[in-house]
Amino acid sequence: QVRVRFAPSPTGPLHIGGVRTALFNYLFAKKHGGIFYLRVEDTDQNRFVPGAEAYIMEALEWLGIAPSETVGKNEKFGPYRQSERKPLYKQYADQLVNSGWAYYAFDTAEVLDAHRKQHEAEGKTFIYNHHNREKLDTSLVISKEETEKRIASGEDFVIRFKTPVDETLHLHDIIRGDIKFETNLLDDKVLFKSDGMPTYHLANIVDDHLMETSHVIRGEEWLPSMPLHVLLYRAFGWEAPEFAHLPLILKPIGNGKLSKRDGDKMGFPVFPLEWKTEEGLSSGYREKGFFPEAVINFLALLGWNDGTDKELFSLEELAESFDLNRVHKAGAKFDPEKNKWFNHQYLIRQDDDTLAKAFAPIVYEKGISVDYGTLVKIVSLIKERAHFVSEFWDLADYFFVAPISYDEKASKNWKEDTPELMKQLISVLEKMEGFHSKNIEDIVKDWMAKNEIGMGKIMQPFRLSLVGALKGPHLFDIAEIIGQEETIRRIQKAID
Ligand code: GLU
Repeated sequence: QVRVRFAPSPTGPLHIGGVRTALFNYLFAKKHGGIFYLRVEDTDQNRFVPGAEAYIMEALEWLGIAPSETVGKNEKFGPYRQSERKPLYKQYADQLVNSGWAYYAFDTAEVLDAHRKQHEAEGKTFIYNHHNREKLDTSLVISKEETEKRIASGEDFVIRFKTPVDETLHLHDIIRGDIKFETNLLDDKVLFKSDGMPTYHLANIVDDHLMETSHVIRGEEWLPSMPLHVLLYRAFGWEAPEFAHLPLILKPIGNGKLSKRDGDKMGFPVFPLEWKTEEGLSSGYREKGFFPEAVINFLALLGWNDGTDKELFSLEELAESFDLNRVHKAGAKFDPEKNKWFNHQYLIRQDDDTLAKAFAPIVYEKGISVDYGTLVKIVSLIKERAHFVSEFWDLADYFFVAPISYDEKASKNWKEDTPELMKQLISVLEKMEGFHSKNIEDIVKDWMAKNEIGMGKIMQPFRLSLVGALKGPHLFDIAEIIGQEETIRRIQKAID
């Protein structure tokens, strides 16, 4: 069975790259009728940030890609928080020590630092592995008895993985294909520390195994850890899952990786939800008025496509078409304009009633009383021009309040004979019965034709009178909505 996981460390809010990783796992699970679960990797207590875990859960809920197993939910292989699995890891570290795949080390930071510096001075990179240790400094390598004595005396230790020497590892990644690694270039990574906590590497492998993970789908930044992880599976005698390392998300401009700081600096959110700290506020897609479906859609296309030009996908369609083999190796450029375009696409597909409900509080808050049916009509007329509901007011204010000024450039359409023509227009409108868009249009056009008055002579000053600028939807629709009296009043006011 396909079982995939999202395994965030709660060190801060989930950024857009993390969301994309969660999404691809979710889609892969759905596609294969599998399980998408979430495990909280909180073994690094120094980097723990209160509220981050709740934030991550809330964000995935909002986006509609909540895991089906996690903390407090279907805990089939629980606990799903690594800090609560703490007693479990030591025995696995011991198992590796006993089988010769790991060893205790007591070297102090000073000693390691000195070696590192010495290597640097000689222009070499310091690779800490079992093999080099013996060559480096025999005092680092100690007997079993001495090891036991030092542990018993309470000295700080770490347990390190003993990387095999002189081996070329042939690994396979679903996205990247075959990859070779030389084991001599790998450090003997720390697996366990004397504070009783495993490191990420140990906890991650133990849990992926115990939670029966079939595929590890994660960001490219974890690719360098893959050889160690594969070796750990070998050391334990466990079957390794398959791996897929997702491409980086790149800045809109330049080539670097999109960072958490890029967002507010460049005016777009990089977080799904707003995140407040003492240092300030980072904006979120939800609070900016993005539809979760739009966020999902554009994230899905960051590094993947279905091989056609299709851009608009519902979550169900994504799950159906998703294929890890079609995920790109190269980084995917993050395009804030495209994000807005996606939101526009989802906005215009909302029904007018939903949009009117979202717009209503904005209007009523301004003390304007307008009936709901009218709001629905207004929304239907302006939504084509909007990316967000928050733009509705600026696009529609003239429906509610008469213009207080007239666009200067557009005012050049107000000619010498305009006041006289507008007066005639008023008398045409005054006589009208049934003030409906189509009706107004027929009557006004009829009057213009009969009197041989050019379109431009009427329509532009008419629009300027009602809207204050040469913008907005079909003019006769606007007139119908603001009503006969108000239409006439606005034309009169423009003449005066
Ligand atoms: N805890 C790691 C992270 O924060 C998980 C990496 C992985 O998926 O193996 O991204």
